[in-house]
Amino acid sequence: MKLARYDGGKIGVIRDGAVHDVSAACGVDPAEWPPVGIVRVIRDFARLRPGIEKAASAVPGIPLERVRLETPIPWPNKLLALPANFAKHSAEMGGGTPPAPESGFFMKANSSLSGAGDAIVVPNLPGREVHHECELAIIVGRGGRRIPAASALDHIFGYACLMDITVRGKGERVMRKSYDTFTPVGPWITTADEVGDPRDLEMRLWVNGTLRQHARASEMLVGIADAIALCSSVATLEPGDIIAGGTMAGVGPIAPGDRVRIAIDRVGEMTLAVRGEAA
Ligand code: MN
Repeated sequence: MKLARYDGGKIGVIRDGAVHDVSAACGVDPAEWPPVGIVRVIRDFARLRPGIEKAASAVPGIPLERVRLETPIPWPNKLLALPANFAKHSAEMGGGTPPAPESGFFMKANSSLSGAGDAIVVPNLPGREVHHECELAIIVGRGGRRIPAASALDHIFGYACLMDITVRGKGERVMRKSYDTFTPVGPWITTADEVGDPRDLEMRLWVNGTLRQHARASEMLVGIADAIALCSSVATLEPGDIIAGGTMAGVGPIAPGDRVRIAIDRVGEMTLAVRGEAA
């Protein structure tokens, strides 16, 4: 199943290029604050799924081009990320961060999350570059602490495309990666059962139509199951937590006017505009 948020917090199922409103079947009030309804849906998904499927079939779909897709999980308990998780990217960065798993994970502000319908807003920082990083978002389904890698895939709800937008250079990593709109996630969550074996997923990112990044998930130094084990060795994972799997070689600058496209096999694809900060 492909689960989206759209048009002011509605929950939708994506089928054949159209979105079917299942907010009521999910028990989610789109106007609720904080917007944690989707977290409850993920926690209770096994129970809710039959009703969601039925509701999706009962209402006509709205073509995707007529809705505004929002970030699927706007208020997760945690947004974690793996640094230096591909050997060639680690090398291109000059080895400043030891390759995974030695570096563990870092965190980004949840408020940096944005969606397929949002632009990436680059701050006005003269002399600094803002880079794209193409990544797989691993969405936690069943939480837990000290989850063994052998059973870690059972804890995954689904996957999405993720960009870990980053100001390069000096300063605390958490701050350089936490500007608003610096973590586009989307265009929706594709549930794990629909993805199958995630290790052969191919991830690609283009800027203005030029392919800049391309790798398979199997090239991750800390693999998907090991990422769950690593993160949960420190922190209790909760339903809806997002783990950014790390980026491959080919990172580079983006600037206002660019269009950045990310695609992951069997998961989805989205193209985001880049714009400057309003004066
Ligand atoms: Mn990254």
